[in-house]
Amino acid sequence: MVAIVAVSGLAVGSFLNVLIARLPLGERLTGRSRCPHCRAQIVWWQNIPVFSYLLLLGKCAHCRRRISWQYPAVEIATAGLFLLAAQPLLNRGADAVLTVARDWIFIAVLLVVFAIDWRHYVILDSVTLPAAGLALAFNLWLGQPWEELLLGGILGAGFFLAQYVISRGRWIGDGDIRLGLLLGLMLGWPGMIVALLLSYFVGAAVGVTLLAMGLKRLGSKLPLGTFLAAGGITALLYGEPIIAWYVRQIGW
Ligand SMILES: [Zn+2]
Repeated sequence: MVAIVAVSGLAVGSFLNVLIARLPLGERLTGRSRCPHCRAQIVWWQNIPVFSYLLLLGKCAHCRRRISWQYPAVEIATAGLFLLAAQPLLNRGADAVLTVARDWIFIAVLLVVFAIDWRHYVILDSVTLPAAGLALAFNLWLGQPWEELLLGGILGAGFFLAQYVISRGRWIGDGDIRLGLLLGLMLGWPGMIVALLLSYFVGAAVGVTLLAMGLKRLGSKLPLGTFLAAGGITALLYGEPIIAWYVRQIGW
């Protein structure tokens, strides 16, 4: 079971790499992969997740120039997160399969958002809007109260819409509003709050670290969507234990 999930995760991660590389450039998703440097076609044995990267020592077989470490990183991250999200299957609850399917889809979507915003500072509506619709459908199907989903969606979109309007688009991009909507419909209330808080803590920690290391200057751009995607995945997997822990801390 673990092996099947891990191999599926690596294969999905390989596909996510295609989306991450091609969607921001508006390229077709069909057609064989090519080396970004020399355009040489990548044959099947050079395209096996992680394994090929190691075999080729991270270099193109044709021109020997570097292949980004992001390719195996996305594949390994997808497999690892798929394994973490597969936990409910062990309990064999009635909704376990549907819950795991939902979580795998949103892990995949958020990994794409994470990587594209990191590389291009853009959050694509062609990713977030269909995913937001899917999130609503999945959660209603799973029997989540629509009031909680509505509240999550309003909070997620409204939080970023307010910042966008107040700053006239200088603080955040309008893509963040749609990502907020997706996270809200995916996590509902109060999971959405967990995702927001985690994103801002991690974003602040990373920002301060980059400043201290001299890698960024004050006023440098940081990819907010990358942090929101990371916060969203964490809240998706661990939102309930985090909320339970917090409630214990404040002694309710
Ligand atoms: Zn090449």
